[in-house]
Amino acid sequence: MINIVLFGKPGAGKGTQAEFLKEKYNLVHLSTGDIFRFNIKNDTELGKLAKTFMDKGDLVPDEVTINMLQSEVDKNPDAAGFLFDGFPRTIAQAEALDSFLENKGQNITATVALEADDNILVARLLERGKTSGRPDDQDEEKIRNRYEEYNQKTAPLMNYYKNQGKFFAVDGIGTIAEVNERLNMIFDKLV
Ligand code: ADP
Repeated sequence: MINIVLFGKPGAGKGTQAEFLKEKYNLVHLSTGDIFRFNIKNDTELGKLAKTFMDKGDLVPDEVTINMLQSEVDKNPDAAGFLFDGFPRTIAQAEALDSFLENKGQNITATVALEADDNILVARLLERGKTSGRPDDQDEEKIRNRYEEYNQKTAPLMNYYKNQGKFFAVDGIGTIAEVNERLNMIFDKLV
């Protein structure tokens, strides 16, 4: 079983690339952002809770996110592997994921990051906000807050995975096909 964490700042292209990777490598794609948005759309209790944080560009509390992620993994007992997108985003989430997988006799195979410059990403998100309808994409202040959250809480994960020898990175700037090719080169070595 291979379990890959797709890592990168907001707007780095994780969701776009995950669509290709999940097909090519037969992985179940779990995007915490997508799952939260699905819950918001369906007006569930989880959605109502998550929305209060997401609309401001804050992270949803760890406990809520970790429980949700674990139940999504458990819904896919026959998966050949998982592609985690947008999770973990804090050290506490990474530790919870490690122990959760360990209890199942599994582990994280690798973390693969999409790297890109902040200014390019902010411009991309504002552009996406014109059509995505996402409140967190439509306001530069909220976007900047997401980067604050990333820098404070998520960036330390790079060392967490580097220390385990599991961190890989590709240049996230280029066409979708070019970035996809770079990712495939790494994934081919991991599977
Ligand atoms: P992006 O990477 O473009 O910011 P996502 O769709 O991955 O978009 O996430 C949108 C929002 O959902 C985040 O800003 C945060 O509020 C919430 N969220 C997603 N994943 C997590 C997570 N692992 N922990 C806490 N909050 C999360």
